[in-house]
Amino acid sequence: MSTKPFVVLDNVAKRWNGQLGVENISLDIEEGSFVALLGPSGCGKSTSLRLLAGLELPDEGKIFIEGRDVTTSAASDRNLSMVFQSYALFPHLSVAENVIFGLKVRRVPKAERMEKMARALEITGLEGLESRKPGELSGGQRQRVALARAIVAGQRLCLMDEPLSNLDAKLRTSVRKDIKKLQRDLGITVVYVTHDQTEAMSMADKIVLMKDGRIQQIGSPNELYNSPANTFVAGFIGAPAMALIESHILGGVEDGYKIGLRAENISIVPKGEGKLSCNVTEVEFLGSETLIGLEHEGAIGLTVLQPGLLIIPLGQQIDITFDDQHLHFFDSAGERLPG
Ligand code: ADP
Ligand code: MG
Repeated sequence: MSTKPFVVLDNVAKRWNGQLGVENISLDIEEGSFVALLGPSGCGKSTSLRLLAGLELPDEGKIFIEGRDVTTSAASDRNLSMVFQSYALFPHLSVAENVIFGLKVRRVPKAERMEKMARALEITGLEGLESRKPGELSGGQRQRVALARAIVAGQRLCLMDEPLSNLDAKLRTSVRKDIKKLQRDLGITVVYVTHDQTEAMSMADKIVLMKDGRIQQIGSPNELYNSPANTFVAGFIGAPAMALIESHILGGVEDGYKIGLRAENISIVPKGEGKLSCNVTEVEFLGSETLIGLEHEGAIGLTVLQPGLLIIPLGQQIDITFDDQHLHFFDSAGERLPG
């Protein structure tokens, strides 16, 4: 028995006419895990997924699925299913026909097709909608049809590229939970592309955060949030993102260092008792909490999170403090310093 992870990307690179697509992509994916490829638009998430799917060929590196070198294998030989942002449903086919389309193509016997479809429709909560056309469904229902189609394929590896980005915010949250539950219940391995850090944080066992075609950090949501590898990760993960303060502002001796601090670790104190005195530039009431945006020379993104409603006039000067144990240190190149 091989002890290799379920999926391995080993130093994979893809260039477009010499231009960077992705570079040095190395990643192990455990069977049954949920891995999110996260990063801003254009960072190489879809390219990485398409390389794994076999829709693109790498210029360098190797890809293994279940211990098998699939680097040059066709997509159809990789035993995986895919769900895309555009649902890619056939508009003239019913829900039922869309879901079993792939099984028909593969000449799966009718009884088996019907059994698999019934199960997939049950799992995705689409029972009763079998004969509707995609045009007669809501966005959320269409996305469920795409999921049902991926489920009936019965593959243990499912790749999803921004599957929720066409849905409105409320629906996104509910389908997000459905996908996560499905993945757990079926025990499948999911590689999920998103630019939304909340999605990645809430769904993934492992996040791969990318920028400019390169991996910045691989880790659990907890690791990325609490030990960001560099200032990019610090600024990308969390809402609000981590504030970054030039070290000399806080009396640091080493010039060029940056100090990171999260909103929930800052408190407002009476005048004269704080470590920094800041100007209030923004007050955002979110219901359960209020975010107070602050301005201070040498600091970016300073925000205080206060439970409940807090009314402070804009332009007011307030003092803030924090516990030194909550500080994160980054060198002049932006890399996290130990300790
Ligand atoms: P993401 O999915 O993270 O938004 P992509 O993987 O789609 O990013 O793109 C990564 C980079 O590769 C971008 O600079 C993009 O312009 C480039 N790229 C992607 N696909 C192609 C292609 N088919 N031809 C040329 N350049 C491409
Ligand atoms: Mg993309």
